[in-house]
Amino acid sequence: MNKKSFCAVPWTDLSVIPTGHYSMCCVQKQSEDKNKISMNLPVEQHWNSEYMRGIRKEISKGILPSACEGCFLNQSVDLEYRRERMNQRYLGDKDPSLDHPKVQELLKKTNTNGTYPMNIKGVEIGGDDTCQLRCITCSPSYSRSIIKDYERLGWPYERKNRLPTRKDESASLDTMFKNLKPLIKDLEYIKFVGGEPSISKPLLKFMDWCIEHKHADNLVVICNTNGAGKLEPFVEKLKLFKRALIGVSTDGIGELEEWMRYPTNWGRKEKNAKYILKELPDAFIHSVLCTINAHKLGDLLEWCTFNQYPFYIERLNWPEELSICSFPQEVKNSLCKYFDYLIEKYGSTSYTHPSRMLTSGNLSNFLQKTKTFVANSQNNDTNWKLCVDTITSYNKIRKTKLGNINQFYNFL
Ligand code: SF4
Repeated sequence: MNKKSFCAVPWTDLSVIPTGHYSMCCVQKQSEDKNKISMNLPVEQHWNSEYMRGIRKEISKGILPSACEGCFLNQSVDLEYRRERMNQRYLGDKDPSLDHPKVQELLKKTNTNGTYPMNIKGVEIGGDDTCQLRCITCSPSYSRSIIKDYERLGWPYERKNRLPTRKDESASLDTMFKNLKPLIKDLEYIKFVGGEPSISKPLLKFMDWCIEHKHADNLVVICNTNGAGKLEPFVEKLKLFKRALIGVSTDGIGELEEWMRYPTNWGRKEKNAKYILKELPDAFIHSVLCTINAHKLGDLLEWCTFNQYPFYIERLNWPEELSICSFPQEVKNSLCKYFDYLIEKYGSTSYTHPSRMLTSGNLSNFLQKTKTFVANSQNNDTNWKLCVDTITSYNKIRKTKLGNINQFYNFL
């Protein structure tokens, strides 16, 4: 990290990861934190732990902690990364120098041993694995329903998992939310990253508590919904919060969505998407580009443009084998040509970052950057073989073969 770099996250945010532990940051290298604190314990034990104090001391000196490596690797390949978004949110500057007045404010309140008051502004919660769907890009850490597929496929739980699954069965989200209550007066953002928020009993209970105790007015809720179930009760609660930045996760249209986000019913999904986008002013369609939908992106863009849905798209990084970088070189070349066609047709379509933290762009910008990213990515035969193996395996347990929906995969 150069002298100009800073990240506000260790001063402002708390993450809860699927293993049932607190974490410095949701995108940090988890192996760096050897003393993970269970989410059953008071937040203080994590917030000023030896690990957190060390991180703050390093960043205060302008040193990049090795735990932040992934974030900075993303920066080097021009991917959107968390450091920028969070700095923008809390400091009003995506890349402030150490002498930035707001950085100085944080540093002044930081003890020389790295301790910092518990003024936590944002919480990102990924400790729930309740979800009705078994999406191909997801893993058992975020949806335990996926285990049914894994058992049929004879796969180990770790396959496609970015993080290990919950080890400590006693760790409870209800207890974690109880631990958050004393911090509520400073809290401004609550982000729920999995499983499905509309059916997470601990989250819904916490939302009710916030509404009942008049904290909802000050809280922004950020989450994605799979749009699969009965959403009215959840949407009615969301309306009572300061803002609800809610994405309707949609990776394809019709049968492709049903295959990728099994067992979605496209008719119901479309109806639900329409309902959420009508009821919540900050709702949008959230898509993730991967090997399975890349050749059908035009259909999705057509659907969003036709319906005038606000739209956000990002590239999938994990599981690595489903990232578009896994395509063989000749496929990457043809994909770049397809992107040129999409730029011509949809390039001027605008998209807004869901967190409203970074400047909005247009699709041409995203597609151009993605083209450069794919063209410059290293070929990796192992990942491509693994991608093909994943699709072939899912073809065996789905009613339709992917090749019948996305002709690119006819060869399987
Ligand atoms: S630099 Fe990146 S990984 Fe490190 S705390 Fe900030 S956002 Fe997280």
